Amino acid sequence: MAAQEVEDIFADILDRAKALDPASVRRWFDNLTVIQLSGGLLDVGCPDEATAQFLRDNCKGNFTRAAQQITGRLVTVEFNIVPADDNGRRFRRNAVGPKLHPDYTFDNFVVGPSNRLGHASCVAVSHSLGDTYNPLFLYGSSGLGKTHLLHAVCHEVKQRYEYAVIQFLSCEDFVNRFIRAIETGNLAGFQSQFRSVDALVIDDVQFLREREQSQEEFFHNFNALYNNGKQIILSADSPPGKIPSLEERLISRFSWGLVARIDPPSYETRVAIVQKKAHIRGVSISDEIAEYIAHKVQANIRELEGALTTLCALAATTGRPITLELAQIALEGQIESSARHINITDIIDVVTRHFDVRLTDLQSKRRSHSITLPRQICMYLARSLTKHSLEEIGGHLGGRDHTTVMHACSKIEDAKHSDPQMNILLVELTEQITKIPARHISNH
Ligand code: ADP
Ligand code: MG
Repeated sequence: MAAQEVEDIFADILDRAKALDPASVRRWFDNLTVIQLSGGLLDVGCPDEATAQFLRDNCKGNFTRAAQQITGRLVTVEFNIVPADDNGRRFRRNAVGPKLHPDYTFDNFVVGPSNRLGHASCVAVSHSLGDTYNPLFLYGSSGLGKTHLLHAVCHEVKQRYEYAVIQFLSCEDFVNRFIRAIETGNLAGFQSQFRSVDALVIDDVQFLREREQSQEEFFHNFNALYNNGKQIILSADSPPGKIPSLEERLISRFSWGLVARIDPPSYETRVAIVQKKAHIRGVSISDEIAEYIAHKVQANIRELEGALTTLCALAATTGRPITLELAQIALEGQIESSARHINITDIIDVVTRHFDVRLTDLQSKRRSHSITLPRQICMYLARSLTKHSLEEIGGHLGGRDHTTVMHACSKIEDAKHSDPQMNILLVELTEQITKIPARHISNH
């Protein structure tokens, strides 16, 4: 095949993949290149490891389907880094850096009064590892950008310090690895892995609460790194002194450097965030719509982004332009759910009617797909639309335990992102549950 022909086919595949899952589309998709398209292999060239990893995690299925639909053949898709670009930028091919989200950069972070200190301290630290604030401790409620900032620091450090070794992980991962190291008798390996880094970045350290042994290990790692002038960056949902049963000596060490609080964003910041997020997706929305969304979703930026995702998915799957009216339809369910008291039985009614199954089926032990799917959707909707605990939700659906409910919720959440049909189904069911007329959606 001629090179131009390959480029053209790849452009078609890209368009198809975008259409298959509009929610995962990013502007940088246009920077992807084709390295190879032959022998049943499509090798997609990515500018960096973060992008490649994002695509592997979120888009492999859609790219594979798109490639097969366009070429009419079985195709395996791989995402790899293009070794060097035209500007002569070099990539460390063998570096096993942390798994970073390509969108979570400083450029994509909107700064406002609520997060100015957190942002500035992260920038400062990434420009001068170990020399400014050490440790840097960020805290704030869920969904306010802590994880985003930690990723941004790692992106920046990777750019600035080509050979810096960064260890970035969630505290839960840290604890699990520690436990595994003990079980397999490889504590020395674990310790050398953590003590030989230039920057240790740990997200959600509140996970250490009531884990005495892990706190002990954390303390020793902290000291080893700190004494060697290595950078430590931590995040949590509360300040060090408010993390339940955190040892005094850790509280004191966590407070040695800078403790920066992140607050819920102001209205102006929320508007700017919605616009930024739309821009990243390559979608243009009017000020009026951004203002509407910012007005409706106030407490949590993750939910703000979720509202935009729903709106984009709704527009893409129904083929309608993004208008204020569509935004109202997309968001109504969300607003109503907090305003109105929704019963788990309302949810079960709507879901059983939609799938034509009986409640007793959902409560039974049956595990065929035709039963598990509606059961899992019920759990997911109950989790997102009511205040019931995981245990209570499990109780309504045949006495299932909380881990089963949690698993169902994350499965449907994943499907919502990877499968536009699922996203639309969830919007429709939510509309029915919240009693907002579905005709708005179906008459496209
Ligand atoms: P946390 O770790 O505090 O729970 P995250 O970092 O996961 O929150 O943020 C949730 C979502 O909100 C992410 O998609 C993130 O990109 C976005 N977000 C948070 N703050 C900002 C901001 N100031 N600008 C742009 N996006 C933001
Ligand atoms: Mg987080």
